[in-house]
Amino acid sequence: MNETNLPTIAQLLQACTLPALETRMLLCHVTGLSREQLITRREHRPSAEQVAVFLHLGHQRLHGRPMAYLLGTREFYGRPFRVNEQVLIPRPETELLVETVLDCLHGQEAPAVLDLGTGSGAIAVTLALEAPHANVSASDVSPAALAVARGNAAQLEAAVTFIESDWWQALPPQRFDVIVSNPPYIAASDPHLQQGDLRFEPPQALTDNADGLSAYREIIAQAGGYLQAGGWLWLEHGYDQADAVCALLEQAEFGRIGSKCDLAGHARVSGGQML
Ligand code: GLN
Repeated sequence: MNETNLPTIAQLLQACTLPALETRMLLCHVTGLSREQLITRREHRPSAEQVAVFLHLGHQRLHGRPMAYLLGTREFYGRPFRVNEQVLIPRPETELLVETVLDCLHGQEAPAVLDLGTGSGAIAVTLALEAPHANVSASDVSPAALAVARGNAAQLEAAVTFIESDWWQALPPQRFDVIVSNPPYIAASDPHLQQGDLRFEPPQALTDNADGLSAYREIIAQAGGYLQAGGWLWLEHGYDQADAVCALLEQAEFGRIGSKCDLAGHARVSGGQML
């Protein structure tokens, strides 16, 4: 393609069959133009390479690959987090978990916090930045996920200690004031695993390959050994799992057990205090 054969921004916007918002996001991403510039520079012709990348990403999107993976980033709690196929894409409902933990940390002096199964690091990094008085640690079983999380902590200048561990297995003996986790909670039989973005996310971040509750059983059963007296455990869960998670917390003799609702009105986060 020589210069004049290359399409203009207006032509690319017109020709793309993706939803308009996604087309604009991909065009901004490949051209480096802002959303405003896409409007004011409609006759601009991106380079042949930019057009090729745009067409490639558009094709991938048409086949379902999540926007967050194509752009390599997703906003969480107002900050951009780098993501790739090795980590779950941060979800808005997880901001409720962060807010709940922040409430818990408020007024505590230098609390020690652990994020179990940190993935992209969205929870741990946000907590470290929003509660700079806390000492935040984060674990994950996947070295590839930890690499992403470390990158996010560095990029966003958050002080987080990372530990490679399969839940509790390799954690040093330490007691925390708050433990938080958004574990894989989708049951193996749930048809959502075959739909939308979930088809492209790491299965081990989404499902326990069982009834959706095995991670909670494992986390809750041993949490007492890693919590200070009076320490809190807060967990994100599926929209219909609050009763089951609260029952597990009760069995493990947690007190002050409670759940919080997300913006859709689903009980989404449950927790309790180790008395
Ligand atoms: N919230 C995600 C979803 O339902 C699942 C994340 C998880 O299993 N922790 O799409």
